[in-house]
Amino acid sequence: MIVQGSSVTRGVREDTEVCIVGSGAAGAILAWELAERGHKVVLLEKGGYLPTEAFTQREDEMIPRLYKNAGFQFAMPSGIIIAQGSCVGGSTVVNDAVCFRTPDLVLERWGKEFHIEGIGPSEMKGYFEKIERRLSVADVRPDEMNANNSIIRKGCETLGWSGSLNRRNCRSCRRCGLCHLGCSYGTKQSMLETYIRDAGTFHDEDVKIYSDCTAESLVSSGGRVTEVRAVIHSSEGNVPMSVRAKTFIVSAGTFASSELLLRSRLNRSGHVGRNIALHPSPAVIGDFDEEVNGHQGVPMAYHCREFGMQKTGRKGYLIESVFLAPYQFLLTLPGYIYESKELMKRYNHYAMAGILLQDDSVGRMKLGGPVGTLIFYRLTAEDGRLMVEGMQNAARIFFAAGASRVITSHRKRTVLYTEDDLPLIEERGVGTTDINLGSGHPQGGNRMGGGPGDSVVDSYGKLHGLQNLFVCDASVFPTSVGVNPQLTVMALALRTGQHIGDNWGKIATG
Ligand SMILES: Cc1cc2nc3c(=O)[nH]c(=O)nc-3n(C[C@H](O)[C@H](O)[C@H](O)COP(=O)(O)OP(=O)(O)OC[C@H]3O[C@@H](n4cnc5c(N)ncnc54)[C@H](O)[C@@H]3O)c2cc1C
Ligand code: SF4
Repeated sequence: MIVQGSSVTRGVREDTEVCIVGSGAAGAILAWELAERGHKVVLLEKGGYLPTEAFTQREDEMIPRLYKNAGFQFAMPSGIIIAQGSCVGGSTVVNDAVCFRTPDLVLERWGKEFHIEGIGPSEMKGYFEKIERRLSVADVRPDEMNANNSIIRKGCETLGWSGSLNRRNCRSCRRCGLCHLGCSYGTKQSMLETYIRDAGTFHDEDVKIYSDCTAESLVSSGGRVTEVRAVIHSSEGNVPMSVRAKTFIVSAGTFASSELLLRSRLNRSGHVGRNIALHPSPAVIGDFDEEVNGHQGVPMAYHCREFGMQKTGRKGYLIESVFLAPYQFLLTLPGYIYESKELMKRYNHYAMAGILLQDDSVGRMKLGGPVGTLIFYRLTAEDGRLMVEGMQNAARIFFAAGASRVITSHRKRTVLYTEDDLPLIEERGVGTTDINLGSGHPQGGNRMGGGPGDSVVDSYGKLHGLQNLFVCDASVFPTSVGVNPQLTVMALALRTGQHIGDNWGKIATG
């Protein structure tokens, strides 16, 4: 049952067993898993509920309705644009449906270095398999490769670099190219089409999802959380909501989960809001004589893994095909509006790649500022070096595939005409004022680990020092995961849900 803010006219009070904040990759799976085990669940979601029919494929209509802060979220001092979904289904509604399992090396590191129990590759395998089955994850078919993806594959093959078709959670994709605006064909197997829908099959009283409902604080006493206080953005203005429960799970996503803990003064470890990774991504554009029409077809169907951890065994980057609708595309272009206008005339001739950099954790957030949180993030020198190398290698791919010129997302217009121009990328640099970077993968802030000395939550997401409060979403990643993160979030959610279910007596009654 989904209760939308517009249908609420006065304050609401709920008494339940499990209260979950956030309905994205983690929250939706937790709601289903715990309801399946017979627990009553109330799920609070800040964003609105938009069913498939409501997706209009228009950037001006969808970005304000589906994204956090209407799409405006930046890290200081460089102005990295950070995109996060905010709607029932969270970021899974606006993502590109690319599915990577967590690399084995990352899981092994999380186990060894952060003392996380039960997180080895063999222990996580079953969770990935279960999620992949429900989400219909499958290899992109060769006929689903559009010209943008094929160019990147051609470049890789010419250079002898290893690359691969992506796996995606999509059934009979209609290849409209507008994944970032919600899938109006309902083929993307986001949370909206899967676990939220499954949760709707339970009795109305057993799973209640409140959309347009922002959790504002957690009330705790005697080592337990007793209540979430929230507001519902109703047709009558903001009305109060209170949820009492036996167990609480914060799955509001990176930044928002830390924000809720900080507002509730639950930062005994002192680590809340720290160790944030972004996968900061520059865009590299290849200009081709023939039309590419990268906006038509599956946006992300191929990646180059030559410089990624999977191939080299050490921290690196993936070069991924990606394409954007015009407004989002404009944000990646160099310079100011007059230059962008001229560059946009060649939109149909462009191919685009993004560098997914496996960054060291260097960011933090704190309360304050006009939207309630401030995000600070700086590239380390080594990350900067890898980013430059990644852009140069993406440019090599485009030249190998026949591009007439390559344009980078540096703020100062940067155009390369041959490989001889590659040093220009290093000259322009990646300092805070040099380049437009984007991120759709914020992670960390509530690091998982063995003890309160270096982490916020334990091996299963329980906040150190409280008996019945869990955090489960991308914010618990101890380090940058180095691949598109949704499957990692989902597998951790299933694992946490099972842990809570298996230990219900101890957790719920203390
Ligand atoms: C444009 C874009 C493309 C992406 N593409 C891919 C991809 O192809 N493959 C991939 O693996 N990953 C991709 N990602 C990333 C992936 O979707 C996220 O990593 C994942 O969804 C994070 O899951 P989460 O549960 O942490 O948060 P989310 O899925 O973001 O869910 C958090 C939810 O909590 C809600 N919330 C926040 N604060 C509150 C509050 N106070 N009260 C109530 N509710 C609250 C939010 O509104 C949101 O709906 C993409 C992300 C974006 C933005
Ligand atoms: S490209 Fe496929 S998955 Fe993406 S929005 Fe279009 S139909 Fe949906």
